[in-house]
Amino acid sequence: MKIGDILRGGEFSVSFEFFPPKSEEGERQLFDTIAKLRDLSPTFVSVTYGAGGSTRDRTLRVVRRIHEEIRLNVMAHLTCIAHTRSELTDILSDYAKIGIDNILALRGDVPQEGVSKKGCDYAVELVALIREIFGDRFSVGVASYPEGHPESPNMEWELKHFKEKVDAGADFSITQMFFENRYYYEFLDLCEKFHIDIPVIPGIMPITNFKQIRKFASMCGATIPQDLIEKMEPVEDKPEEVAKIGVEFAIDQCEDLLRNGVPGLHFYTLNKSRATLLIYESIKDLIPS
Ligand code: FAD
Repeated sequence: MKIGDILRGGEFSVSFEFFPPKSEEGERQLFDTIAKLRDLSPTFVSVTYGAGGSTRDRTLRVVRRIHEEIRLNVMAHLTCIAHTRSELTDILSDYAKIGIDNILALRGDVPQEGVSKKGCDYAVELVALIREIFGDRFSVGVASYPEGHPESPNMEWELKHFKEKVDAGADFSITQMFFENRYYYEFLDLCEKFHIDIPVIPGIMPITNFKQIRKFASMCGATIPQDLIEKMEPVEDKPEEVAKIGVEFAIDQCEDLLRNGVPGLHFYTLNKSRATLLIYESIKDLIPS
């Protein structure tokens, strides 16, 4: 089912993001995680893509297995950097053939060594390519950045280029992780100012490994609140304590978002189910039915 249609119909969306594992054991663990999260009846689940095509076959394989064996609505991420337009068209044709309805159209991070193959420089060109070649065959999502993408010099630049993706045909957006909701609310105000009216689903990262998330956050420019740092730092080598604080923090964050009428919640699961299950259990009564 197309995510854009679901959201336009006013249905609240709960979704889980996974990455395609490198090993058979990793894939077995992932499908164990998916089996547990399936009971929550997510609106969709999504599978990431390695920029440059490093996970092309693995992403397709995991997407296909979720679609055919688990029968969940799936969104395939696709990054356009370092792919030619004809490669992108082939990948999208494969997804169309197996019955996938949703694509998250991304640029991907530009590798330090630069790119040898050129198709699209920015995600907006991938959105336009999908609409040009596949029309309305897919619902198309795009990334958005409540604190600004690290390459954006300011929020006006950020919003200008976000709007270009919407005007090119994006149906909805999922945000980069953030830990202070005020960035998301301020971002929504800016969207209104820029006449961006697609649903913007907040991306929630439950913290279960503080060192790892601190590294991710600094790479993508997400601010970790000082009081959370102060709680996490003394216990950062104690996984159980980190997870407990992380889950409590995410519950408070989600409750506030739900009280403020968000269109959905997208959980970055890192292929694990426990934190997401605990958060869901605690907030489920606030989720609009
Ligand atoms: P774009 O929208 O193209 O924007 C990138 C930067 O370029 C921004 O600063 C933008 O303002 C600027 N820009 C856009 N257009 C122009 C223009 N015409 N001229 C000048 N500047 C411009 N990465 C992966 O590799 N695989 C994944 O599966 C993946 N999934 C993600 C899922 C979500 C929900 C999010 C939020 C991010 C994900 N990413 C993923 C990370 C993403 O690929 C990186 O953040 C990447 O650096 C930017 O991708 P984008 O699609 O946002 O790019």
